[in-house]
Amino acid sequence: MMCDQNNPASSSLLTEMDRKVYREELQERLPEKIFDCHVHLWARDAFPADSKRDASDYMNYFACSFPVERWEALLRELLAGKEVWYNAFSMPDGAVKLAMAPRCRFNMSLVSPFDPVEVLEERMEKNCSIGVKPYWNFARKNAADTEIRDMMTPAQLAMLNRRKAIVTLHIPRPGRFEDPCNQRQMVELCETYPGIDFIFAHIGRAYFMRNIRKSNLEELAGYSNCFFDTAMLNHEGVFRYTLDHFPAERILFGSDAPIALLHGKSVEINNAYCYLCAENYRIGSMVYVPGMREKFTLFYYEQLRSLLEAIPQELQQQIFFQNAFTLFTGKERQ
Ligand SMILES: [Zn+2]
Repeated sequence: MMCDQNNPASSSLLTEMDRKVYREELQERLPEKIFDCHVHLWARDAFPADSKRDASDYMNYFACSFPVERWEALLRELLAGKEVWYNAFSMPDGAVKLAMAPRCRFNMSLVSPFDPVEVLEERMEKNCSIGVKPYWNFARKNAADTEIRDMMTPAQLAMLNRRKAIVTLHIPRPGRFEDPCNQRQMVELCETYPGIDFIFAHIGRAYFMRNIRKSNLEELAGYSNCFFDTAMLNHEGVFRYTLDHFPAERILFGSDAPIALLHGKSVEINNAYCYLCAENYRIGSMVYVPGMREKFTLFYYEQLRSLLEAIPQELQQQIFFQNAFTLFTGKERQ
């Protein structure tokens, strides 16, 4: 079907319960400034007008676009009273127009390995991008067979290295952060391209304890251009383990909005995880729990809740704001 542009759910994303959770549990505990380094923003024209979307596609919940203006208006309620900074990229999905990036101070351009290096550099110039966002599906290979090195070419990486760009990378492969091929190639990137700062998204997609325990976090800790963002994680154990094995100054808060604006929580079950969701859209390994929209809260708030529990007080300002502020504004000056 075509996108449902009149989805009533899109007029108000926050429920009474969400407002209560923010007011009672989060507002006072959060630092005054927040830097969300992982946000997807795209205007309706980022996709061809005739793009078909399945009814189960969560983009329908947002009337198929999530532009800068809507995000900024929402932030006044979502993180009321806070000074919010953010970095955004478009939606690396299907028919998206690769040339377009959100018009905001810190943005990243999408990149496919099929983009000639001149095209990519021109795209970054035009969009005033601080870096790029590759994604496994642009490699046009079977998901299970895609390697990190399929996601960007050596020529693209050499250009990004020269420009001292930032790359936000969602590692591929079913084994996630415990996959030896991913581990080796993460190290190779950091070693070969010291001019690039790599933000490995979702803490290497380690949404459950075994995956982070079998990761090579300690090896990666030795590379000063290796960063992790916390997007879509709400696992206190994973955060604590990460803080114990990796420098806090290279952990960045990221949310993965707007997907994080759905209601639900990620839970670990037997060395795997699933998303319990109050809205019936297909995201990752999700289970729909009907009738809970007014009882659950946003994934966004579950992330904040668990981060506040896991991060020692003295590191909170750094992880929620300072680390990303230093990284992004530092690049801007180069
Ligand atoms: Zn994302």
